[in-house]
Amino acid sequence: EKAPVTVAVTGGAGQICYSLLFRIASGALLGPDTPVRLRILEITPALGAAQGVAMELDDCAFPLLRGIDISDDAATAFDGANVALLVGSRPRTKGMERGDLLSANGAIFTGQGRALAEAAADDLRVLVVGNPANTNCLIAMNNAAGVPAERFSAMTRLDHNRAVAQLAQKAGAQVSDVSRLTIWGNHSATQYPDISHAVVDGRPAVDVVDRPWVESDFIPTVQKRGAAIIEARGSSSAASAANAAIDHVRTWLTGTPQDSWTSMAVVSDGSYGVPEGLVSSFPVTTRDGEWEIVQGLDVDEFSRARIDATVAELADERDAVQGMGLL
Ligand code: NDP
Repeated sequence: EKAPVTVAVTGGAGQICYSLLFRIASGALLGPDTPVRLRILEITPALGAAQGVAMELDDCAFPLLRGIDISDDAATAFDGANVALLVGSRPRTKGMERGDLLSANGAIFTGQGRALAEAAADDLRVLVVGNPANTNCLIAMNNAAGVPAERFSAMTRLDHNRAVAQLAQKAGAQVSDVSRLTIWGNHSATQYPDISHAVVDGRPAVDVVDRPWVESDFIPTVQKRGAAIIEARGSSSAASAANAAIDHVRTWLTGTPQDSWTSMAVVSDGSYGVPEGLVSSFPVTTRDGEWEIVQGLDVDEFSRARIDATVAELADERDAVQGMGLL
């Protein structure tokens, strides 16, 4: 039997984790042959609720689940973690300014970055889901001395999956027939879902769908999908976010398909004019736990303006947290 993999998850009592933890324990994250140990981090007032989730995990009698530990101390929760899913973050509450949100999360993600460096396993891989995800990831990455920056990522896979589904539906194709779609930039309303290199059933997407649909329907639909789900469902898109987190890590560890790529927010090396050091979403190929930014794609004027706008927002967020001394 394979050795168990330790997966640390924060925000364990929250909505996303109420889907996510059960998928991980069932084998959806690491495959049907890999046992998993869960280590859950929660804030002290939510420890009881996290215990309740652990009771339900026990009650599923998942054959692959080899233990659940719960803690309100980050270094304890991250002990030996091979994969860390940072889901918990401080939500924006009424009257809170953007600066308040960034500083509240700054305290959380500086501490978690340090704790990961201190306690996690050498092969650690980190996914940040909690918003503002790119900047929370930037903070954790910069505070995790000794952990290579390439081990950190933030989630734009839900945006990617949403875009794939919208394009497939419009084209009358299967989602599995869509490839080479990209989400650029920030996981926020400024993100740029880009079909200029996408392929649908062997044909360039730009020949399959019309330009006005892309500009006035597809792009805003993907950008505002989170709000549309809240409007329709009365609560946020937790299950699809959990599913995207599973997809993100599974693709990272097992690899992208030949001739295609995925979208991940990773540290920029300056590719496509994105300033070095920002955590921005790119077209990315993966293999055996390593990622590479796809190089050499043409960027037309329309795409250039949209990439620049979302990257400018990331640079603003970075400047704000840098000004607070969080990097
Ligand atoms: P959720 O589980 O619904 O969401 C968690 C985070 O994921 C939020 O920041 C949320 O952003 C973000 N997110 C990213 N993509 C999506 C998406 N598509 N749909 C919804 N959310 C998305 O939040 P809950 O409030 O239910 O739970 C959070 C838990 O985290 C609480 O139990 C809290 O106690 C815990 N927490 C733990 C910390 C820790 O472990 N140290 C620190 C802070 C909180 P957005 O806010 O934009 O919706």
